[in-house]
Amino acid sequence: MKRMAEIISGKVVSAAKREEIKKRVATLKAKGKDVGLAVIIVGNNSASRVYVNNKKKACEEVGIKSFEYALPEETTQDELLALIEKLNKSGAVNGILCQLPLPSHIDEQAIINAIDPAKDVDAFHPFNVGHIMIGDYTFLPCTPAGIMEMLKYYNIDVKGKKCVVIGRSNIVGKPMSMLLLKENGTVEICHSRTEKLKEETLSADILVAAVGKAYFVTADMVKDGAVVIDVGMNRNEEGKLCGDVCFDEVEKKASYITPVPGGVGPMTITMLLENTVRAVE
Ligand code: NAP
Repeated sequence: MKRMAEIISGKVVSAAKREEIKKRVATLKAKGKDVGLAVIIVGNNSASRVYVNNKKKACEEVGIKSFEYALPEETTQDELLALIEKLNKSGAVNGILCQLPLPSHIDEQAIINAIDPAKDVDAFHPFNVGHIMIGDYTFLPCTPAGIMEMLKYYNIDVKGKKCVVIGRSNIVGKPMSMLLLKENGTVEICHSRTEKLKEETLSADILVAAVGKAYFVTADMVKDGAVVIDVGMNRNEEGKLCGDVCFDEVEKKASYITPVPGGVGPMTITMLLENTVRAVE
C-alpha cells in the first residue's frame, strides 16, 4: 500500500497556541490590563458573517473582549472612517479588524490605511507590510504566520528548501513568500501568468497553494515527499468546503499535508488572537 502523508493538524497546533495565549491574557488581566478586539463587518456577506462569529467565539475562549460593529450594506466610506477614527482613540480597543471584502462603494485600501498601525492586527497596513519586507515584525499577517507556526510545530525545517507559493495576493501569497524567505527558504512565487506551472510545482520541497480554486493542485504536480500546505477555502460542486489541493490523491505522495477544513483555517484565527495580545504586551 502507498505511504500516506502525516496530517498537519491546524486544530492541534491551534489548541496548543490558544492555551499559551489564554495564559498571557490572564497575566495581563492580573496587571489590570484588559485585551480588546474590535471587529467591524459591513453588509450581509454570509461567509464574512461566519468568519466574524468564529473570531468572536475564539476571543471569548481566551479571555479577549470582542466588540462587534455590524454595519449595514449602505454604510458610507466616511461613516466607516469615522468609526475607525473613534476606535483608534479608544483605550479599550487594542486591535481593529475590518472584515474584507467591503461593499464595492468603499475603497478597501483607504480603510486599511486609516487603521492605526499599532492596532492593525491583520497586518494589512502599508506600515506593517513594509516591516514584513524588512523582516522586522510587530504583527505578522495571520494566515502566513499560522502556516509558519504549523511548520515549526511539526519540526519542518524551511532552511535551504525549495518553497513554491502559488498565489501572489497581498494577504496570503506575498507575505507567505517573505516569511519563508526569512526562514532561509529558496522561494518562488507562481501566479496565473506563470508558464509551465507544473514544472515549477514539481520542484517544490514545500508547496503552498493559495489559489482559490477547488482541487487545483493534483498529484502529478507534487514531488514525492513534498510538504503540501493548502490555504484554499472553496466550495465544491456539492457545496462542501474544500481546499485548493486534491487531498485524496496528494496525501499518497506528500510527506506532510494540511487538510481542509482543520488545517490553515483555525490557525488564521489563532494568529489574530496572538496579534491582539501582542498589541497590548
Ligand atoms: P486571490 O487574491 O484571489 O489570489 C489568488 C492567486 O492565485 C492570485 O495571485 C492568482 O494569480 C493565482 N491564480 C489564480 N489562478 C491561477 C492559475 N490558474 N495558476 C496559477 N495561479 C493562479 O486569493 P487569496 O485572497 O490569496 O486567497 C486564496 C485562497 O485562500 C482562497 O480560497 C481564500 O478563500 C483562501 N484563504 C484562506 C484563508 C484561511 O484562513 N484558510 C485565509 C485567506 C484566504 P494572479 O495574481 O495572476 O491573478
